[in-house]
Amino acid sequence: MSAADDSTPITSLEYPPATTKEDFAAHLRAVREKIAAAAERAGRDPGEVRLLPVSKTVPEERIRNAVAAGCHQLGENKVQEAKRKSENLADLDIAWSVIGHLQTNKAKDVAVFASEFQALDSLHVAEALDRRLQAAGRSLDVLVQVNTSHEEQKYGLAPSDVPAFLKQLPAFETLHVKGFMTLALFTEDTGKVRACFKVLRGLRDQLRDTDPDLIGPGELSMGMSGDYEVAIEEGSTCVRVGQAIFGARNLPDSYYWPADRPAGEA
Ligand SMILES: *Cc1c(COP(=O)(O)O)cnc(C)c1O
Repeated sequence: MSAADDSTPITSLEYPPATTKEDFAAHLRAVREKIAAAAERAGRDPGEVRLLPVSKTVPEERIRNAVAAGCHQLGENKVQEAKRKSENLADLDIAWSVIGHLQTNKAKDVAVFASEFQALDSLHVAEALDRRLQAAGRSLDVLVQVNTSHEEQKYGLAPSDVPAFLKQLPAFETLHVKGFMTLALFTEDTGKVRACFKVLRGLRDQLRDTDPDLIGPGELSMGMSGDYEVAIEEGSTCVRVGQAIFGARNLPDSYYWPADRPAGEA
């Protein structure tokens, strides 16, 4: 069903800052309009697409205004930052989603505050999370991160390793598998970006046929500020949008992704 010519631009316009509640309301409205238009192009119901605002690097005072404008679910890449924010903003109604790579020794932190973890790609982490969640009497929605771009240093499982990995997860009763997450290739080439999203969707569709019990609702978390419209055309059910809502970040993306350093160091 993809709208699949490559006329959909990869947005690279600069992202204006947002500080006030009104700024956030305007940015959210603009992003929702683009989500709706992309869904329409693909013959999809925009209601199938969840918008997950990503608040990494954004100070707490500004997050308060974003929450006032209607953001009640927030994505964060780094556990320490997310934990601190969850504590300092505990008076607000926010569900926290951890969307970045997790080291086993941080599982205990995630277990206390997060409601969702989108970057599961190791059994060690699954085990550590399950143990901590049991202790805390909590459960966690998880998405399995898949490397769809074949970049060696990017996190996530190779698509061919995913079925065997999923078969291990029912052993962890506190983890509720919801589907998959991916980061597309970082390139201006829309065709290459689209190809990554197609891989994730193909994997989900294949597992829906062979092992539907292992993937829950089969969510596809794919698409960020620069490529969420393409992702929606390719079937995304969750777009993780930071800069288009909060404004451009100062930190380079290499701070969040292991592009410039060995995997495991982040
Ligand atoms: C930062 C981040 C995003 C959002 O990126 P933007 O360019 O700010 O939209 C999405 N997914 C992950 C895993 C991230 O770390």
